[in-house]
Amino acid sequence: MTLALHGGPPVRTAPWPSWPPPLDDAQRALVGKVLDSGRWGATQGGGVADDLAAAFARRSAVPYGVAVGNATLGLFAALRGLGVGPGDEVIVPAYTFVASATSVLLAGAVPVIADVDPADLHLSPDAVRAAVTDRTAAVMPVHLAGSPADMDPLNALAARHGLAVVEDAAQAHGAEYRGRPVGGLGHAGVYSFQASKAMTAGEGGLIVCPDEAAYEAIWSVCNLGRRPGGQWYGHPSVGWNLRLTDLQAALLLPWLDRLDDEIARRDAFCAALERELDRLPADGPARPVTVAPRPPGTTRDSRHLLMLRVDASVERDFLLAAMAAEGVPLDAGYPPLGTMDALTRAGARAEPCPAATAAAGNVVWVRQAMLMDDPARAADVAEAFAKVLADSPPRP
Ligand SMILES: *Cc1c(COP(=O)(O)O)cnc(C)c1O
Repeated sequence: MTLALHGGPPVRTAPWPSWPPPLDDAQRALVGKVLDSGRWGATQGGGVADDLAAAFARRSAVPYGVAVGNATLGLFAALRGLGVGPGDEVIVPAYTFVASATSVLLAGAVPVIADVDPADLHLSPDAVRAAVTDRTAAVMPVHLAGSPADMDPLNALAARHGLAVVEDAAQAHGAEYRGRPVGGLGHAGVYSFQASKAMTAGEGGLIVCPDEAAYEAIWSVCNLGRRPGGQWYGHPSVGWNLRLTDLQAALLLPWLDRLDDEIARRDAFCAALERELDRLPADGPARPVTVAPRPPGTTRDSRHLLMLRVDASVERDFLLAAMAAEGVPLDAGYPPLGTMDALTRAGARAEPCPAATAAAGNVVWVRQAMLMDDPARAADVAEAFAKVLADSPPRP
């Protein structure tokens, strides 16, 4: 047993729930059916991958969906299908996973890294307004941690400047903005099924979109430049094989039936944790640990992660190590994209991003798997904070 850095036994010794959750009977049955069918790929169409695309389109309240190998490729295909390419700029938030920017590079365009809102940490409409140039072709709001970006002002800006809007919904399966599901709020939306995400087949992705012409172009990018329903060896445009397999789709399609229950479970844990954190003794005028607020317009947070702001006078890496020693491993979150040399060397342009820089220093995440625990166990997280914050060296 590891000894807690603050003495005594760790607050939490029981394991946290693992991710993914155990397979259910419906998943086993559908995977078995696809295995037995011998049709493991999705080459012919009309299989489980197409069913999954249709189910996600329905849930996103749009007519079209395309299942793909992962969300990095999905974002690339959406951009490319919407006509974004070399010479274009795409505005992405500074506080997000690196793939939001590398998908833009894959499309041959320039990621322009704009700051996030200092409170909710989602792409700031003001920062987008300041970053638009006559080369801007698209904007990529990210529905971070399961809460939607504030889409109305972003869509209004995009309409004014003629920009495509590609929603990065990799973390937001089931989230809603002003009562409407994410994914269908712009010109295309992209989900991820990578191993850490709210639904997973190990890897995978899915693009949804409201417009038929955009769908046909995006489908073509993902299917070697073919036209939907066209000839097998007819390739009227340039495209690649970006398809998801039917085997992966068979893990995912039944999952949709329990997604809402899982969101409710994580939501209950988050609500309990917020109540517990409110009771922590204050360190000066500010509450020491607070839940990052959601952007305006969030009507359903899918609770992929819980982002916490730590305002106590404790150094963040020390805090993370001490919390881990108490049996509560938290995540450090994202470095600002603009600080990644590889991106700037590849041509990305970073606007000033003070809010993302601050977040990199004082925001920590509670992982999705932990949020799946019994809400009564949220007390473990708060208790570990109380123990660690009561006796930590101040920030240098
Ligand atoms: C996971 C993630 C991606 C990339 O998804 P993959 O399926 O792993 O390619 C893109 N954007 C965000 C915000 C993500 O969290």
